[in-house]
Amino acid sequence: MLERGEVANSWRRERWDSLRLLTPNWLTRLPGQHYDGPDPDGYMTSGEVAEFIDRFARAVRAPVRTGTEVLSIRPDGAAYHVLTGRGEFRSRAVVLAGGACNIATVPAAGTDVPGAVAQLTPLGYRGPDRLPDGGVLVVGASATGVQLAAEIRRSGRPVTLAVGEHVRLPRVYRKRDVLWWMHHSGVWDQRHDEIDDLDRARRLPSPQLVGTPERATLDLNALTALGVELVGRLAKVRDGVALFSGGLRNVCALADLKMNRLLAAFDEWARADGRESDVGPPEQFPPTVVPARTRLRLDLRGDRIGAIIWATGFRPDYRWLDVPVLDGKGRLRHEGGVVDAPGLYALGLPMLRRRRSSFINGIEDDARAVIGHLAAALR
Ligand SMILES: Cc1cc2nc3c(=O)[nH]c(=O)nc-3n(C[C@H](O)[C@H](O)[C@H](O)COP(=O)(O)OP(=O)(O)OC[C@H]3O[C@@H](n4cnc5c(N)ncnc54)[C@H](O)[C@@H]3O)c2cc1C
Repeated sequence: MLERGEVANSWRRERWDSLRLLTPNWLTRLPGQHYDGPDPDGYMTSGEVAEFIDRFARAVRAPVRTGTEVLSIRPDGAAYHVLTGRGEFRSRAVVLAGGACNIATVPAAGTDVPGAVAQLTPLGYRGPDRLPDGGVLVVGASATGVQLAAEIRRSGRPVTLAVGEHVRLPRVYRKRDVLWWMHHSGVWDQRHDEIDDLDRARRLPSPQLVGTPERATLDLNALTALGVELVGRLAKVRDGVALFSGGLRNVCALADLKMNRLLAAFDEWARADGRESDVGPPEQFPPTVVPARTRLRLDLRGDRIGAIIWATGFRPDYRWLDVPVLDGKGRLRHEGGVVDAPGLYALGLPMLRRRRSSFINGIEDDARAVIGHLAAALR
């Protein structure tokens, strides 16, 4: 196992200071290792996740070579040549497990932002006290965007949040964590080969969730109550002015509709599975409140904006992969983790085999299936 940094590197180096998992402790598990502390319904800090992974690596004596960056992988006869910062390997099989979130996506509009406005991504952001003075424009309203918008607003700054397509969820539904429902109802176990539009499912934004001791919901209504200004999707930046879509109302109506459909499916499952007595009564949530007229432009020079945070998603880094297995959009061509080249495999990507694939609790089943294939191929 080759690791460029330390074990659990992304949790040590690439997360902001206040981040907690959005998955509850009882659901944070690795093969043979469950959370065994006093707060199963709580949410781990990044430091606690790093410790959890470290403990696992020690328990299974994972043969990790830390400080060993893979610089290139290329075909070499019936095997692969792997060049690292610390020597070369020849290997008949390679598992790409470098993570799904190595690079923060920044839209093309970023190049038109005036130089005086700082631009950050979630991989570089640490906390509101390290931002330059002034208001903050957060672009993207999925898990990362809503969490950062709330934290920065609470620090006393004006925050504008540009909202595109998003997944709205309550933190708790019928007295259970919403991820309890995802886990037990089977939604999270929907398989890659059962889903009609797999490409779309793989690009679905992360849900608007945050893990806090209060188990609070962090949807757009909660952000409005905090004083965050909601605007539509960022279309472009022209002459120093950020231009937003006028379609916020539609985007929010669609997110409300999808949330209600999912909650109705949970209700249906609870009835059919005899779980009614385990959970509270069905609940309804008010629709997202969108102002009658949202701002369509924000002058990045005149409106005292100090920083833009691009919370517009992440992607894996394959710049070191010299094997022709990427599609026209730079995505890995694979079937449930079996890559389109003999001996090459992948783990940890969104919807790799199931909806839960990119979460810590999703790795066990995926790894078993992928390694099963790999072992058979080697035999
Ligand atoms: C902001 C954020 C919040 C998240 N919150 C949750 C959550 O609440 N719950 C949850 O279950 N999941 C969450 N995730 C997803 C989480 O990242 C995964 O569940 C888990 O970390 C994936 O593990 P991984 O080993 O596949 O990838 P990573 O944790 O990214 O690990 C990949 C490793 O590969 C190393 N690496 C990369 N390239 C190279 C190279 N060229 N050479 C050598 N080593 C390399 C990296 O240093 C890193 O240590 C979150 C992700 C992000 C970005």
